[in-house]
Amino acid sequence: MSAPIIVLDELRKCYGELVAADRLSMSIPAGEIFGFLGANGAGKTTTMRMLCGLTKPTSGHGSIAGHDIWNERNSIRAKFGYVAQKFSLYPDLTVLENLRFFAGAYRVPVGERESRISRLLRQTDIEGKRNAKAGSLSGGMKQLLAVACALIHDPLLLFLDEPTSGLDPVHRQQMWDLLYDLSHAGTTIFVTTHYMDEAERCTEVGFIHKGKLLVKDSPHDLKEKFKNKLLELQVDPVMPALVQLRAAAGVLGVSLRSGRARVYAAEPEELLDQWKKNWPFAELKLLGHRWVDPDMEDVFKAYSQGYNEMLRS
Ligand code: ATP
Repeated sequence: MSAPIIVLDELRKCYGELVAADRLSMSIPAGEIFGFLGANGAGKTTTMRMLCGLTKPTSGHGSIAGHDIWNERNSIRAKFGYVAQKFSLYPDLTVLENLRFFAGAYRVPVGERESRISRLLRQTDIEGKRNAKAGSLSGGMKQLLAVACALIHDPLLLFLDEPTSGLDPVHRQQMWDLLYDLSHAGTTIFVTTHYMDEAERCTEVGFIHKGKLLVKDSPHDLKEKFKNKLLELQVDPVMPALVQLRAAAGVLGVSLRSGRARVYAAEPEELLDQWKKNWPFAELKLLGHRWVDPDMEDVFKAYSQGYNEMLRS
């Protein structure tokens, strides 16, 4: 594994009484696509803003490429790019003018600017829009332009705060293809997302919940943390089944997947044996069952809901 490019050491941020990021410690090796996951308000943006030197940590430390994220914030800005949730493009400037503006702001050598801009326009596939006003672009194109602007100084590391939020599937795919290309070329990616299918695409994922880092691992190893496969029941009618199963003894939670009830339980085999002998739900018909491998949505659910009995410690 390569040396860490990002290190967080007991990093903490409080807003008055509220602890938005609670003693976060982790390191992220160079070259990773690190996915930072959590519900709304979990503390993702706060953490990213601390890493980018935009908000001062209350306590603890963080470093990027060995430099302190707060004390050396001005000198390390050139090492990373940041695409905020609400990005700061200039809507009245064209695509090209926005890129030129950011090239100036990041002090890209004048002789390199036009070739770099041409490469980024190609890479983000917005060449055809070079003379369009940024404000007239679709949401997806705006995001791609925001990424292009954040890459204008060839950073080692790119932070993206929910870059695919609100994008259609085609633009989401396009964004991920771009992130893969960047990663392939050696850029480390730190990305926040709500989408579990996107978590699958990361080399490592960290789950943050109420400011605390619950777990950090590869998607493969996170799924391996489940002690058992998951029980899925085909029940009719399925919607009332979700409610009744959720309230049953031994059941931690239930979710609807492809018309089936996916049951979260510490002892699912015992539960199924018991139900086969004595089905306790008079209004529900059990049509069948199957065992399924957990996916990232299950991982997220188990960690965020605290289904610890289902997980290896
Ligand atoms: P989302 O997915 O909605 O963007 P998030 O995981 O990025 O959420 P944060 O934006 O980091 O979460 O917010 C974490 C907590 O800190 C929330 O309770 C939020 O209301 C609070 N918070 C964030 N910024 C401030 C601020 N400037 N002042 C006070 N509270 C704040």
